[in-house]
Amino acid sequence: MVFYTFSEQQPSLAIGTMYCIGRNFAAHAREMGAEVPDGAPLVFLKPPSAYTPHTGLVTIPKFSNNLHHEVELVVIIGKDGDTITEQEARDYIIGYAVGVDLTLRDIQTIAKQKGEPWATAKSFRGSAPLSSVIPPHSIDDTNAELELYVNGELRQKGNTNQMERSVPALIAYISSVFGLRRGDCIFTGTPEGVAQIHSQSHVKAILNSHTVLEFTVE
Ligand code: MG
Repeated sequence: MVFYTFSEQQPSLAIGTMYCIGRNFAAHAREMGAEVPDGAPLVFLKPPSAYTPHTGLVTIPKFSNNLHHEVELVVIIGKDGDTITEQEARDYIIGYAVGVDLTLRDIQTIAKQKGEPWATAKSFRGSAPLSSVIPPHSIDDTNAELELYVNGELRQKGNTNQMERSVPALIAYISSVFGLRRGDCIFTGTPEGVAQIHSQSHVKAILNSHTVLEFTVE
């Protein structure tokens, strides 16, 4: 099992299913040549083995030549729920983190062309770097700043006020389809500016200029 790290004292919490939302920022959907889905949200999953801790090392899989960064607000779920309403959704949040939804863009492009799943492109070992978890009261998830730097260069800057679907709406949807469990988390989508990370790079993601995630790509 792998466990979250918390910025404040908490009982240990094993990382469960990582739910990820695609195309939740219109400008990012456009840069991918896609639209924000107007029906159900676009959901995919990463396994716990995708977790990379703060200051960790990510290895680009040998079968890809194009690793991309996607900085995202991550919501950590603190209790089980199967049909959570938007009104009660925030009661299920044990904290927030900043994460990077690492993506093998070349593999994803082939999968899209063939109509195949994104699992290999999105869910490979180490593909989910995550900061320590901060308490729910420490941010407003409707107005949180996200930034991502590669080797000190600003690549992405966005705010969760640009999200197409709110955190409560995502919790309600995912709980109704899959059932959320204590220790699951939700990657809530990335703003525009996604781009390639070359090997031997240092990546830094920042939430509200205080919560920092750093990792190295070898
Ligand atoms: Mg993403």
